[in-house]
Amino acid sequence: MLTSSLEKVDPEVADAILQETRRQAGKLEMIASENFVSEAVLEAQGSVMTNKYAEGYPGHRYYGGCEFVDIVETLAIERCKKLFGAEHVNVQPHAGVQANMAVYFAVLEPGDTILGMDLSHGGHLSHGSPVSFSGKFYKGVFYGVDRKTETIDFNEVESQAKKHKPKIIVVGASSYPRRIDYTKFREIADRVGAVIMADIAHIGGLIAAGLHPSPISNCEFVTMTTHKTLRGPRGGLIMCKKKYAEALDNKIFPGMQGGPLMHIIAAKAVAFKEALSEEFKIYQQQIVKNAAVIADELLARGYRLVSGGTDTHLLLVDLSDRGITGKAAQELLDRTGITINKNRIPFDKKSPAVTSGIRIGTPAVTTRGMKEGEMKTIARLISDVLTYRNDENRLRAVREEVRNLCEKFTLYHARINNNYGNGGTAGTQSAG
Ligand SMILES: *Cc1c(COP(=O)(O)O)cnc(C)c1O
Repeated sequence: MLTSSLEKVDPEVADAILQETRRQAGKLEMIASENFVSEAVLEAQGSVMTNKYAEGYPGHRYYGGCEFVDIVETLAIERCKKLFGAEHVNVQPHAGVQANMAVYFAVLEPGDTILGMDLSHGGHLSHGSPVSFSGKFYKGVFYGVDRKTETIDFNEVESQAKKHKPKIIVVGASSYPRRIDYTKFREIADRVGAVIMADIAHIGGLIAAGLHPSPISNCEFVTMTTHKTLRGPRGGLIMCKKKYAEALDNKIFPGMQGGPLMHIIAAKAVAFKEALSEEFKIYQQQIVKNAAVIADELLARGYRLVSGGTDTHLLLVDLSDRGITGKAAQELLDRTGITINKNRIPFDKKSPAVTSGIRIGTPAVTTRGMKEGEMKTIARLISDVLTYRNDENRLRAVREEVRNLCEKFTLYHARINNNYGNGGTAGTQSAG
């Protein structure tokens, strides 16, 4: 056994990291926005590239000594272009919200109007919500889903666009289980002279693998996070049409950020390389299959799913006829080792702190190598917890089954065994 420098220098932090590693490995992570990166991504992220100041862009930096960070940023850009077929890429946004902010800076003046998806229908805070900068500096107006189909209401998109004449239409969501038709948004945007920003934070991996329509040809800007389905380091990126390239790059730096996080950019380059592989395509297909199995199993047990099912990596379960709130369901499931999040459903009567629903996602458990059979088990366990919530024996039995599943599909095994630098066990290959 090796003792890491961190254990010597700071045992408290080392211990918290070890406990967090054990938590990730010992529970079923089903928060739709989370995933487990490979050892290669972790290694790049934990590298000396963190030491380097590199304000500017490859070949045009404000500091000397940038020849090697230039290599990784160029690799990241070129790989990302290839992955999505983008004309221009900026890999410097620190996170998804910063990517969105830079696009707003590039096309809006303070007070201009953003038309985005209603937060309570699945949209994101950074799409014009009054509690976010995006609704304070700009005027946020919203579209939502149709009451009956619970899919995007294009009549409302059009009427809101005509009424408010937004400069930008934001297309994207954090809890929307269906495919998004970008061509319909393009038609509406053209009618009112708006540009489109597609925020593919959640579905980037699916799009890269060809499992969801790509917004690239239909939208001036595409933003995303690299840490959700894409399975890269925590961060953001922006793709855009060539004509916006210079304006956009200037908004990231010097407009709103200082030095880029070169260690994260190195890790993004690694993640893009992984995402270009055939294995990644198979992984993304499995994510979608797994979500569909959970959806079918819950439907068969009489649960109501928002929009009736899923085309993606996530599903929204409406618990309002089950006598349990989203909040209580989240707490119960967490006790049995299943991590999900409470989530508002469209037209929810409960507050965001309580909610009537839960959101379930399959990217992280799929990374561990779990397939359809395990999803059937997980759906049964979730249903058991929600149904027999007052039966402590039953809940204990679920915790035991979760533990067994987690032991079979190991994660970061070498790290937990304190065997640093002994190669990786994260990823689909670990499951056998
Ligand atoms: C997660 C998410 C973001 C924000 O990403 P951060 O990296 O947390 O800033 C933005 N938009 C959508 C649609 C998201 O789901």
